[in-house]
Amino acid sequence: MKDSFGRNIDYLRISVTDRCNLRCVYCMPEEGVEPISHCDILSYEEIMRLVGIYASLGIKHIRLTGGEPLVRKGIESLIADIKKVPGIETVSITTNGILIPEKFEMLKAAGIDAVNISLDTLNAEQFKKITRRDGFEKVIEAIKLCEASGIKTKVNCVAMKGVNDTELASIAGLAEDLNIAVRFIEYMPVGKNDFEKCVKKEDVLKSLASVYGPLYKLSEKYGNGPAEYYKPEGFVGIIGVISAMTCSFCENCNRVRLTAEGFLKLCLQYDKGVSLRDLMRSGATDEEIKKAIENAVAEKPKQHIFNDYFGVDDIEERPMNKIGG
Ligand code: SAM
Ligand code: SF4
Repeated sequence: MKDSFGRNIDYLRISVTDRCNLRCVYCMPEEGVEPISHCDILSYEEIMRLVGIYASLGIKHIRLTGGEPLVRKGIESLIADIKKVPGIETVSITTNGILIPEKFEMLKAAGIDAVNISLDTLNAEQFKKITRRDGFEKVIEAIKLCEASGIKTKVNCVAMKGVNDTELASIAGLAEDLNIAVRFIEYMPVGKNDFEKCVKKEDVLKSLASVYGPLYKLSEKYGNGPAEYYKPEGFVGIIGVISAMTCSFCENCNRVRLTAEGFLKLCLQYDKGVSLRDLMRSGATDEEIKKAIENAVAEKPKQHIFNDYFGVDDIEERPMNKIGG
């Protein structure tokens, strides 16, 4: 499926829940958020119907996210079912990792292709401050389990001034002995206005180079995302940076999103899209839903402009836990 700028859209991120077992400071308030009621969230049957329609439109890669996708009951059956849809080539998950050790065998049996695990510190106390919960050891266990079993594993770290900016090189060091990608994401002020917290890509790279020596950009593609990758001398794994704030990678954007409430979201920064849930629940046929998706994708914004936030219409106000990152 092509958008009006000729970009090929073949990647769909599905948020399966807004709920989470952590309360990361950059994503959710301490007291949590008013949860979306169960009947407003897409059922697995509805998700499967949409996956079939998206696959017929050329979507090949699906990532499940949240909230925390592993807190939704039966997620492994959803993964196994999506894997069977003709045209779908990979199913991956973005998770905080806490529940991976207990669900690992089921996820593997379901055929999960890749796992992104979020981790912003290597210090258990700091982990508790950032996530407002315990669980650091489980996350480390999750990373090692996934890597050892050969599942493509990435660690996502949101780089934040005054929070973890002095630890970035040690976090990157996870990729020294493990065959994983450690990726640093520039903090994004989605639904907020706190730009000053963002550690820019060039500062991340400077801080890594001061410990690991010169970093050379890898030319080959790794995964479906907008990260740039580097391999320091002697590393088994690689390091990535996702510069959502300072660079515009939008010209190669290949993705759309589906929120837990079934809203087709066209760009992380904008509240533009269409409620596929409402269409389905009002009795639309597959053909009508397909048309609605194509019409929406034709309206996909050219680019995000987080650095020029003011005066822009349709700015996203949902918090990250409702979008899925
Ligand atoms: N709970 C899962 C997790 O934490 O990986 C999936 C959902 S979470 C919203 C998806 C990703 O978004 C995580 O890697 C998280 O670190 C990232 N994220 C959340 N808020 C962010 C922000 N304001 N700026 C940049 N990344 C953010
Ligand atoms: Fe939960 Fe992920 Fe948001 Fe942290 S970033 S509160 S783990 S949804």
